[in-house]
Amino acid sequence: MWRQACPNIPSIPNPRGAILNFLKGVWGRGNSTLSTAIYSSEMKVKLLPALQDNYMYMIICEQSREAAIIDPVEPEKCLNALKEENVKLTHILTTHHHWDHAGGNEEMCKLVKGLTVCGGDDRIGALNKKVEDGDKLKIGNLDVTCIFTPCHTMGHICYLVEGNSNAPALFTGDTLFLGGCGRFFEGTPQQMHEALIEKLSKLPDHCNVYCGHEYTVQNLQYALHVEPENKDLIEKMEWAKGRRERNLPTIPSSLNEEKLYNPFMRTSQPAVQQHVQLTDPIEVMGAIRKEKDTFKPK
Ligand code: ZN
Ligand code: FE
Repeated sequence: MWRQACPNIPSIPNPRGAILNFLKGVWGRGNSTLSTAIYSSEMKVKLLPALQDNYMYMIICEQSREAAIIDPVEPEKCLNALKEENVKLTHILTTHHHWDHAGGNEEMCKLVKGLTVCGGDDRIGALNKKVEDGDKLKIGNLDVTCIFTPCHTMGHICYLVEGNSNAPALFTGDTLFLGGCGRFFEGTPQQMHEALIEKLSKLPDHCNVYCGHEYTVQNLQYALHVEPENKDLIEKMEWAKGRRERNLPTIPSSLNEEKLYNPFMRTSQPAVQQHVQLTDPIEVMGAIRKEKDTFKPK
């Protein structure tokens, strides 16, 4: 059962399955203190804003009170959150080796002994459990599945976390963002197509998407350049701007929502194909990524 801790906080506007937030502060630009938790009776996901626009996430198994942290780049902040929740950290789940995601691993391991540090790339600091596509882990009673999504980096992993009853949580790092995707630093359009269309799009539609950065408004500006008449997109942009004006996160969305407005999840849609005058979804993927790389909103 989803429940709401603070009834005054406006929530996601089109929440198929009432996702509700509670708020303990305000994420000031560049100096974040906000932490938002979205939870059910068995799993709690706590958003921990970090650096300029990164997100770390704490996942808690409510039954065992064990926890994992995704990309703990600011270890002190993580430690405070662990104390506040009074939970036992067992795992670090690293999405990829970039410093703004993996840069806190070594320090975190000094602060908390005996951690299992997961990731899919030998360049990840303090890595002691290399994972591959389809590998399964347990955080307390929660099931974690590792999904290999190379392209932004060649060792990128997304993590799907499931309990018995509530919507699964998908941690997408810098592969899938709300309204966009990561740059193809080490991979090809074919690989991002495999990641987004052949893997992530096939997960349950009601999966909540928790990505590595608060880039939603910028991403939707480009999406509107591709599909100016997409009503779901126009609506999401209005909502996202409203959230950011109040320093509130736009995270999470759902896979279902992303399929409605994220051009990188819509490479088979005629409107997106017409924009780049191409029909092959892999070529469309390459063309829109290339355009977005240099896109400057008006
Ligand atoms: Zn990155
Ligand atoms: Fe990043």
